[in-house]
Amino acid sequence: MRGLMQEAPLNIPMIVRHAARYHRDKRVVTNTADGPVERSLGESIERSRRLAGALAKLGIGRGDRVATFCWNHHAHFETYIGAPSMGAVLHTLNIRLFADDLVYIVGHASDRVVIVDKSLWPVWEPVAARVNCVEHTIVVDDTGGEAPPSTLDYEALLAEATPLETWPELDEGAAAAMCYTSGTTGKPKGVVYSHRSQVLHTYAGLLADGVGLRESDTILPIVPLFHANSWGVPYECLMVGANLVMPGALMDPESLTRLLVEQRTTVAAGVPTIWQAMLEPLSKVQGGLGPLRSIICGGAALPISLQQAYHRRLGVRITQAWGMTETSPLGSVAWPREAHAGLDQERLDDILNSQGRAVPGVEIRLRDDHGEDVPHDGSSFGEIQVRGNWIAAAYYGEEPTEEKFADGWLRTGDVATIDPEGYIRIVDRTKDVIKSGGEWVSSVKLEGLIMGQPDVAEAAVIGLPHPQWDERPLACVVARAGAQVTKESILEHLEPQVAKWWLPEDVVLIDAVPKTSVGKFDKKALRERFGRYFETER
Ligand code: AMP
Repeated sequence: MRGLMQEAPLNIPMIVRHAARYHRDKRVVTNTADGPVERSLGESIERSRRLAGALAKLGIGRGDRVATFCWNHHAHFETYIGAPSMGAVLHTLNIRLFADDLVYIVGHASDRVVIVDKSLWPVWEPVAARVNCVEHTIVVDDTGGEAPPSTLDYEALLAEATPLETWPELDEGAAAAMCYTSGTTGKPKGVVYSHRSQVLHTYAGLLADGVGLRESDTILPIVPLFHANSWGVPYECLMVGANLVMPGALMDPESLTRLLVEQRTTVAAGVPTIWQAMLEPLSKVQGGLGPLRSIICGGAALPISLQQAYHRRLGVRITQAWGMTETSPLGSVAWPREAHAGLDQERLDDILNSQGRAVPGVEIRLRDDHGEDVPHDGSSFGEIQVRGNWIAAAYYGEEPTEEKFADGWLRTGDVATIDPEGYIRIVDRTKDVIKSGGEWVSSVKLEGLIMGQPDVAEAAVIGLPHPQWDERPLACVVARAGAQVTKESILEHLEPQVAKWWLPEDVVLIDAVPKTSVGKFDKKALRERFGRYFETER
């Protein structure tokens, strides 16, 4: 027997129509050198209709890729609305990638239009010179001065455009957006989100035990709009009508702090390195952080010491989420359960510092190297594999390989334990795992512990070849300004907390941990730097 319910395509215009009807008066703010600029959500939607009209006049139609090379700001948000709603495909480019990668990605995706910030023109220009597919370059004037040659001005284009009056009927399976993953091995891979996956992901994100945004919220996504679908924030704002505050190019901790406080932010979202950098400026704010009720943190493991510092010093909880570009990205979120109400602080902190439990709609399993299920006992390690309606089934232009997509499940490359309640704890990336004398050592756990030492600003742990133990951990540590860190002080700090063979073989002091284009520790760079450290005379 079939259900007898109506079926309407799940697509972005459905979300935009709702926002236009119910949330027109809500605020969309961009920070600029001259202070925050505010528009209403209704205005943003009107501008996105103009953008769609302008793109259509340039010959852009269904399935055509419209790339962005932008900071988080109004025009970027408007492209999130307008490009997919007219049937084109929003392709967010990572502004921090090297030119070679960008040239490859733009060519691979066959981008026909690129919307670029003028402030990023010096980065974009060398890329533009090497790609053939881009027919139109639209520049967002965020700095003033002359427009680069042979480009169209975003504002002029909108002013002249005939707005697209009604969004076309769009098949829910059609591509809405694409984003390339910044994998550290091989070529970047294109993840293609469908309208349907975006809508379902938005609903899941809005669950109270997801990101839990409401109409009364004001959210500050510090996570870039170009990274991993911006964690779904733009469409969540449209769906529930939360105010959206964007930092523009002003990404220094002081500007972010001021923006967060002045805009009466209730929810903020960013990677751990951002929260690390903002702890001090946020602590100095006179009169508290106003209505800030939640910080969402993902993209890399959150050191427990940082999470505790936010709770104890600022009275705000950091909620850890896990996901990846391939999972749209929401996979799991760490909220406590009802049963945890009476737990002591230490036990509760341990739960909140996990990567949380799967959001409904995402199935998670653990598999060992032989493809066997690993028990969810909180101590056995395995690779996280996921499936669901907003999980990639293949990469753009490639047949799904067994190595990445095992019988309908995405192999994430993340090694974790899952406890009987379903809480995930990431131990490592498969390629970062350290095997010392045949036993696993979790670099993620060690890093978290070392960063809890008060003199340490940052720490990354890598496994390097060792003549006796195959591999041993090397701790690469950055001292806090003015503080003294020694191998002895680190080992002394770790000794009571880990098994003896987990203790780093050596501790080296470095000026900074190298970061990837999305602000994660670049362990590949460290491994290259320290290479055969344990096999050479020191
Ligand atoms: P990306 O696709 O660039 O967002 O990278 C996804 C990867 O980031 C995941 O596969 C994890 O290795 C890592 N990651 C994301 N969130 C977390 C988290 N909360 N804790 C630890 N690692 C994370």
